[in-house]
Amino acid sequence: MERQAPEKPAKPILRFAPSPNGYLHLGHAFSALFVKNTARRLGGTWLLRIEDMDPDRSKTRFIKAIYSDLAWLGLEWPRPVLLQSDRLDAYERAARKLFDLGLLYPCFCSRKQIRQNSTAARDPDGAPLYPGTCKNLGRNEIAGNLATGKPVQYRLDIQKALALTGPLSFWQLPARPGPEPERETEPEKIPCHPERWGDVVILRKDIPASYHLGVVTDDAFQGITHVTRGKDLLASTDMHRVLQTLMKLPEPVYSHHELINDEQQQKLSKSRKSQSLEALRRAGMSPRDIHLRLGFTSG
Ligand code: GLU
Repeated sequence: MERQAPEKPAKPILRFAPSPNGYLHLGHAFSALFVKNTARRLGGTWLLRIEDMDPDRSKTRFIKAIYSDLAWLGLEWPRPVLLQSDRLDAYERAARKLFDLGLLYPCFCSRKQIRQNSTAARDPDGAPLYPGTCKNLGRNEIAGNLATGKPVQYRLDIQKALALTGPLSFWQLPARPGPEPERETEPEKIPCHPERWGDVVILRKDIPASYHLGVVTDDAFQGITHVTRGKDLLASTDMHRVLQTLMKLPEPVYSHHELINDEQQQKLSKSRKSQSLEALRRAGMSPRDIHLRLGFTSG
């Protein structure tokens, strides 16, 4: 049956969801301004969500810097802000639905074991595809490993999951290079290929959550109708559609914008120590300079 595009919501709600594991750079500024512009064009609002579930990488000083950098850029957002670190119970409860469907299995592999056992196949992020080592462990082996306190993570059996969901797609607002979203508001249907991710981790060893689980749970919880984010997360949308379908969550419309490159035409990233907004501000750039550099002419 032909899938209908989701109905236009009375009040579109968007979100900007940075991870506080470094200082924001120009790419984040672009993303945040793009969210704001898209919300305005759709006649909606946007929320700020801090994706700080990673206890090792998230730092309070980066959260504070996110607030001050965004305010400096002239952005305003409703309070209180949702912090993912406050929502671990909600993620664990959400994963229950996947357990009940028989789609999660315990995995005791270390990263090293995965590297050693995997083939050349890579997931869309370039990580080795999970070779399925723990997929068919017997009850006794599982019980034994749990009893000795071996660290455990839970993975989604993607083949079983897709047998339940059938073929999936998502609705995407056409985006074009540049700061303004396409004027054309009719979304187009994009087919998903979530099998590229293999059996992803749903509950990590260190926390009862994962990026994919947190994002879909929170987008539903916050009533997000439109998800705008960079093209680096395009492939993740396929996995998010799998989880939304299995967990019977509402389906947002997506928009994936171009990424901002540095002067050497390399993607900006926190790990490459790209010039932070904080550094640009200290070097004398004004918020207006940043807007113009990124191609935003209206505030
Ligand atoms: N927290 C993610 C990041 O900073 C973005 C999550 C999302 O937009 O889904 O890359």
